[in-house]
Amino acid sequence: MNQPSPAAIRKAPKVLLHDHLDGGLRPESIVDLARDSGYAGLPTTDPGNLRTWFAEASASGSLERYLETFSHTVGVMQSREALVRVAAECAEDLADDGVVYAEVRYAPELHTTAGLTLDEVVQAVIEGFEQGSAGRPIKVRSLLTAMRTQARSREIAELAVRYRDVGVVGFDIAGAEAGYPPTRHLDAFEYLQRENAHFTIHAGEAFGLPSIWQAIQWCGADRLGHGVRIIDDIQVSPDGEPKLGRLAAYVRDKRIPLEMCPTSNIQTGAAKSIAEHPIGLLRRLHFRVTVNTDNRLMSDTTPSQEFVKLVETFGYGWDDLQWFAVNAMKSAFIPFDERLALINGQIKPGFAKLKWAGEAQ
Ligand SMILES: [Zn+2]
Repeated sequence: MNQPSPAAIRKAPKVLLHDHLDGGLRPESIVDLARDSGYAGLPTTDPGNLRTWFAEASASGSLERYLETFSHTVGVMQSREALVRVAAECAEDLADDGVVYAEVRYAPELHTTAGLTLDEVVQAVIEGFEQGSAGRPIKVRSLLTAMRTQARSREIAELAVRYRDVGVVGFDIAGAEAGYPPTRHLDAFEYLQRENAHFTIHAGEAFGLPSIWQAIQWCGADRLGHGVRIIDDIQVSPDGEPKLGRLAAYVRDKRIPLEMCPTSNIQTGAAKSIAEHPIGLLRRLHFRVTVNTDNRLMSDTTPSQEFVKLVETFGYGWDDLQWFAVNAMKSAFIPFDERLALINGQIKPGFAKLKWAGEAQ
């Protein structure tokens, strides 16, 4: 049987739900933006070396070095022009990689150090996504993230609701998980629920089941950012029979989407290798698994690259890849009719063409 080739995977219509705007800049743009804004902190101004530096710092296993990478990307994303450019290039890069729908997230509060207001930040990013996707077969929407270590989540949730009809489709909390449980931001989540708004929560990446349980049962999260530790509530007997605990069963029964980011999870230590990543078992058990990039620059990856790794490791075929893409589209925060139009108009026909081409070889 033909395995999907990297070139064919690139053409496949993909859906991305978990990607950070400040984790996906082009190295050339970081150098340009640093020069234009007088940002002097970059470790090198050679784009090639800078790309390598980001990948090495992120793979080093040192949290300090990993966090330093974001200080540079966020450092050069402090003006309206910079935000428009980074967002436009993000849309272009994802479209080039065959992504047809993406929800890209960022924390507005991190982009106000040079004087932009939260509203100006959100408007600039929306403008960039519109610019970059014009004339390309991609839709890009924003998720607004609040930092879980800070106390601005209610304000950011209100911002997300204010821009819900013009490009912002949801809310998220991110940042250090241990010591900052989701319930710390209950006020924001309860507000969003009363507003009939959507949100996802980074949970079950660095911290275990209690974080996932809180995100779902206390906060009412629609989706889980990562959620890899749900594996701790599944026992597999020596004869291969899986037994789900109550929380894992709830997540599967309710079809709660898991925004899994295999390469990133390995870098942060949430999984040892792709082969040992819980995605293999969770896919077999039919959890609502989706495949994502998290931070394309830091993890030196693309949506296609994540699929390529899964195909190489688990032997997935086109049906598996389509299943991941349809899962993600079903789990998106845009209206149901728009999701259906993308599934029936772009995703299924796109995969059918690739499957047919594979069989004809
Ligand atoms: Zn993330």
